[in-house]
Amino acid sequence: MPTTLLTDASRRLEKAARYAPISDDATERLKFPKASLKVAIPVRMDNGSLRVFEGYRVRYDDTRGPTKGGIRFHPNVSLDEVQSLAFWMTFKCAAVNLPFGGAKGGITLNPKELSKFELERLSRGYIDAIAQSIGPDLDIPAPDVYTNAMIMGWMMDQYSIIQGKRSPAVITGKPVSMGGSLGRNTATGTGAFHVLQTILAKENKNPEDLTVAVQGFGNAGSVIANLLFQAGYKVVAVSDSKGGIYSEQGLNIPDVQKFKEEQHEMQAVYCQDTVCSIVEHDNITNEELLTLDVDILIPAALENQITAENADSIKAKYIFEVANGPVTADADAILEEKGISLFPDILVNAGGVMVSHFEWVQNRSGLYWTLKEVNDRLRSRITEETETIWHLSQKHNNSEHGASKHSGSKQKISFRTAAYIHALSRLGEALDDRGTRAYYNS
Ligand code: NAD
Repeated sequence: MPTTLLTDASRRLEKAARYAPISDDATERLKFPKASLKVAIPVRMDNGSLRVFEGYRVRYDDTRGPTKGGIRFHPNVSLDEVQSLAFWMTFKCAAVNLPFGGAKGGITLNPKELSKFELERLSRGYIDAIAQSIGPDLDIPAPDVYTNAMIMGWMMDQYSIIQGKRSPAVITGKPVSMGGSLGRNTATGTGAFHVLQTILAKENKNPEDLTVAVQGFGNAGSVIANLLFQAGYKVVAVSDSKGGIYSEQGLNIPDVQKFKEEQHEMQAVYCQDTVCSIVEHDNITNEELLTLDVDILIPAALENQITAENADSIKAKYIFEVANGPVTADADAILEEKGISLFPDILVNAGGVMVSHFEWVQNRSGLYWTLKEVNDRLRSRITEETETIWHLSQKHNNSEHGASKHSGSKQKISFRTAAYIHALSRLGEALDDRGTRAYYNS
């Protein structure tokens, strides 16, 4: 069988299932998405012509609640990619104990080629096509790569028109004026920052002594880069789809962001009031950024960035996966061998879906929270789950509890496997409580 993204993702499940208290029935069930929808979306373009786009919505598993996951607009979107992203959402929601299953959606296109009017017609057309399989108690989309609050607002509005009633809880990541939550736009990067701080505090690391490279300067990457800069880390490199910038002295991240927002260009700059001047730096490719000699590497762009081909060249000591699936299963083994500590997407970027859950709760209760309430809850919940997974990995690696339930042999487990065991225990319990072979055998 050719290696698809989904089969690669499933290897994490199989590895963790050796150690988790989960039945073979439940493991088998989790290897397959519950439902995969492929749709055609006809869109009238501004010049009067008709273009038909292909879109997907995959609901992976709903054992623990309605399914939840973002919508991606990108030229590489495929059914395989959407299925694997939905798989990761299932484990992410379980890892941080949200009452949701996993889903994902996407449309194959380069959104930069469409006008705003065309994008709106496409977004509304996508909702027309998938409306029967989403809903506040069924499946709740959110933003992902190249989608944002504006697009979520159009989509929620379209769903409400179809239903004949306002239905804010169908989509999260909306504009605040349409029922969005305060703090949602910064939640993924902020959650990742709390995970990183929790881990590095355990290792007695001092921010001032640590260098960082961030691949991807979008919603998630720019927020964590800013927070790390403010906390005293030396962020030496950042990149976007066009390439990256590197400065040994460290970059002034707020200034880089200001310049990028105004000029749509990534440059190392120093700004005084409204005037920014370019300071000395190197231009680097995304591939070069990944292999920089830094303490912390943060892939925050797309999946499959660190593979068996380049894993051996990675020099960072810590990798925090802010993107979904940036490291393949083959690369995992090489990084482990090299002694690199990796912290997985299903925990590190879970702040986004956590605050999406807060948004859904606020929409359903009609009671809206302050930014402080949102941020305090995010910090305490994600820190608690990080601590739990940390202790679980310590327990496995330092005691006899680590033995595989099948072979009985004792092997060290990675932090990724610990996070999967943690998620699988919750998923397995819910799946088994629906009824398993054991109910009928005894
Ligand atoms: P975004 O669209 O805001 O930003 C994506 C960034 O990646 C942009 O800076 C873009 O220029 C850059 N990029 C695109 N292709 C690249 C390439 N080949 N090499 C380097 N950079 C490239 O997207 P986002 O919401 O920040 O999502 C980034 C990652 O985080 C994705 O993997 C996404 O699934 C994950 N994520 C996002 C959220 C969220 O709430 N936004 C939540 C969880 C996980």
